[in-house]
Amino acid sequence: MRPLFPTLVGHDQVKQDLFNCLQRGRLRGSFLLVGPEGVGKALFAEQLAMAATCKEEDPNAPLPCGQCGPCGRISRRSSGDFHALAVPEGKTKIPIAAVRAMLDELALAPVESKVRSFVIEGVGDLMEESQNALLKALEEPPETALLLLIAERTCEVLPTILSRCRIVRLGELTEEEVARVLRDKQADQLEFRAAWSAGSPGQALSDEALGAAEACQVLLGELVSEVAYRDPLASVETLGEFVQPGKGEARLQRSRVTRVARLLQRSLRDALVVREGEGQPGIRLSGASSEVLASLAGLPRGRIEAALDVLNRVDQELDRNPNVKLLTDGLVLELGSALAPPRIPSRR
Ligand SMILES: [Zn+2]
Repeated sequence: MRPLFPTLVGHDQVKQDLFNCLQRGRLRGSFLLVGPEGVGKALFAEQLAMAATCKEEDPNAPLPCGQCGPCGRISRRSSGDFHALAVPEGKTKIPIAAVRAMLDELALAPVESKVRSFVIEGVGDLMEESQNALLKALEEPPETALLLLIAERTCEVLPTILSRCRIVRLGELTEEEVARVLRDKQADQLEFRAAWSAGSPGQALSDEALGAAEACQVLLGELVSEVAYRDPLASVETLGEFVQPGKGEARLQRSRVTRVARLLQRSLRDALVVREGEGQPGIRLSGASSEVLASLAGLPRGRIEAALDVLNRVDQELDRNPNVKLLTDGLVLELGSALAPPRIPSRR
C-alpha cells in the first residue's frame, strides 16, 4: 500500500479519505481542518498541498514524496502555488490586510501545478471583517484553488463559512503515536510528556508541557490527600507557581490555567472510568498514577462530577478574560471542597 502523508503520525482514516478525494480529482475547493491544539493540523494542510501538486508518479512511492520540485518548494515556502497565513508572533489575530492580500492571489492561475493551495490557520480567531472577506471568496473559489482553513472548534467559525467547507476532523493521537513523534524529535522525559500530552504532540513538545504535567500531578496528590481542602493556601501556591498570576502576559497565564484545568478534567474522567470498571485497561486520558486514580475512584460519583462541573465552569470563564488570580484561587478552593469528605454535623 502506498504510504500516505508519511511525515504525519496518526490520523490514518482521515489520510485514506483525503487520498480517495485526491484520486477522484476532488481535492479542490474549501476544507476546514478541525481539531485540538497541536495534533498536526497545519502540518497536515502542508502535506495536503504537497500531495495535490506532487510530481511523483510511482504508485508505491510515499505521497507526497517530499523530494520532487513542487514538494521541495512548498516545504521551503518558495512555491508560487502555496500560500499560508498564520497568526504573527506576539499577536492574537491575523491582520485583515494579510487575509485580503491572500484572497487577491486566489484568482491567479497556478504557477507550476494544477492546484494552488491557500492555508489559513486560526480561522476561528479571525476578526469578523476577515471572516466576511473570506466568505466571499468561499462562495465561488476558482477551479484551481484548494483552500485549507484551520480551527480548533467548529463553533468558532461563522456558520456561513462552515456550510461552504468540507469538514475534516483531526482527533487526538494515542499515547503511543504521541510517543513516536516525541522520539523523532528526541524529546527529553518522553514517557512523562506522552502520558500528559492530551493526545497532542504539539502540546507535549511545548515549553509548558512539563510544568503543566507537574502542577497537575502535585495538585491531584493534594486533592486526594485532602491537603487542598485542609490547607488550600498550599494548593493555591502549587497552581500559582506554574500559572504565575500577575506576572507577564495575561494570555499566557490563561493558557496555563486552561491547560491544567483540562488535564485535571481528563484525570477525573479517568477516575470515573476506573470507578465504573469500564473501558479498556491501559487506555488513559491523563498521566495520573494508578494510586491517585484509585483514591479518586473511591469517592462517590457525585463528588467527582461536582469537581468536573467546577472545571467546566472555569474552562468557560477563561473565554471571558477573567482575573487570573481570582480564577485560580477559586478553582483550587472549589475543587478542594467538591472532593472533600462531607462535613459531619457537630454534636453538642
Ligand atoms: Zn513530490
